[in-house]
Amino acid sequence: MSNQATTASVQLGEDFPEIRDGVRRICADFPAPYWRDLDRHEGYPTAFVQAMTAAGYLASLIPEEYGGAGLPLRAAGVILEECHANGCYAAAAHAQMYTMGTVLRHGSPEQKARYLPKIASGELRLQAFGVTEPTTGTDTTKLKTRAVRAGDSYVVTGQKVWTSRAEHSDLMLLLVRTAPPEASPKKTDGISVLLVDMREARGNGMEIRKLPAMVNHNTTEIFFDGLRVPAANLIGAEGKGFRCILDGMNAERILVSHESIGDARWFIRTATAYARERVVFDRPIGQNQGIQFPIARAYAELQAADMMVRKGAALFEAGLPCGEEANLAKLLSAEAAWNAAEACMQTHGGFGYAREYDVERRWREARVQRTAPISTNLILAYIGEHVLGLPRSY
Ligand SMILES: Cc1cc2nc3c(=O)[nH]c(=O)nc-3n(C[C@H](O)[C@H](O)[C@H](O)COP(=O)(O)OP(=O)(O)OC[C@H]3O[C@@H](n4cnc5c(N)ncnc54)[C@H](O)[C@@H]3O)c2cc1C
Repeated sequence: MSNQATTASVQLGEDFPEIRDGVRRICADFPAPYWRDLDRHEGYPTAFVQAMTAAGYLASLIPEEYGGAGLPLRAAGVILEECHANGCYAAAAHAQMYTMGTVLRHGSPEQKARYLPKIASGELRLQAFGVTEPTTGTDTTKLKTRAVRAGDSYVVTGQKVWTSRAEHSDLMLLLVRTAPPEASPKKTDGISVLLVDMREARGNGMEIRKLPAMVNHNTTEIFFDGLRVPAANLIGAEGKGFRCILDGMNAERILVSHESIGDARWFIRTATAYARERVVFDRPIGQNQGIQFPIARAYAELQAADMMVRKGAALFEAGLPCGEEANLAKLLSAEAAWNAAEACMQTHGGFGYAREYDVERRWREARVQRTAPISTNLILAYIGEHVLGLPRSY
């Protein structure tokens, strides 16, 4: 357990107020009917993503030398949090913030110079991250998508599932096996990261199919059948790709935790407003403890999760170990959002089911964080093994 004193400091209250104001202004241009309509036909929020890109928010973590804002992780998290607290769904574009990190940390100088400025300007969208496969799921190192070197290309064969935003992305970070697991004593070896240009790949060995889901996350299945990817698009060393994505996972967990914090804020605000105004049995329903207490408990859980998210971000920024805090932040924020969603749903009675109230849609959206990008069980397994020193459970 990390009991050592550290000097990382956590700011309380509304940090990054200018960013929060700017994001709120953008969100005001994309009110609930916009998201309701997209949800109905599983559309992609192109206009919202363009507005976020034009304001520079999606490039917040790209260093200034590549055209980004070079902001700390917390600032990027605040952007995501405010989107969700103000009724928007940043998950449609958040991957750009953390998948870019793999290129930034492990890409060659040529790759960084070629891609990062265009990603920062919005000319190129890096929104797709192909990890999960249908037969291996959470057991990532068993992934079966193969990339075989042939001259100056890799030839890719296999399948990914649940790849979000693939139809709305120009580039995809793809995790493949370049050597079979039995070729190395370490099961994480033999995995490599390829940067796939989707515009060239589609119809040339790569096929994308929509995967309709209970939440509008633009999820797809991707099939590879002899796709040729230039060897120059290998990110990091061949066979060492697992490490390239692993060291971005703390950042990813801390970032998406902010979305759950935003969700919890939205649910609590919405539930409280309804509980005050809805009168049944001649009194506001919020006067009943059965309505009031779940909202109050959700508020307490939100505050606790928010502190852990801030702590994780502060440790990350200070370059200190933050695996425990990133995982705790992800667990606690997802639970806080889910409990707030449940309280909000229950507070709204039958109207919680009415599309025009947005509660059911946001309830579905908040639920994702308990499954993706990592499920609650796997976080608990991490805490059991790596924090508490218990035997590995799987
Ligand atoms: C909306 C959405 C968007 C997604 N976007 C992407 C994306 O862009 N890119 C991508 O690569 N993936 C994406 N995913 C996939 C997501 O990361 C996986 O669904 C998730 O990691 C779980 O994998 P699985 O569905 O195969 O579950 P499985 O691995 O089949 O697990 C099923 C259940 O068993 C539990 N379980 C498995 N093993 C253990 C164990 N040893 N101990 C305890 N419990 C265990 C899991 O926690 C889970 O609850 C997305 C998923 C969703 C739903």
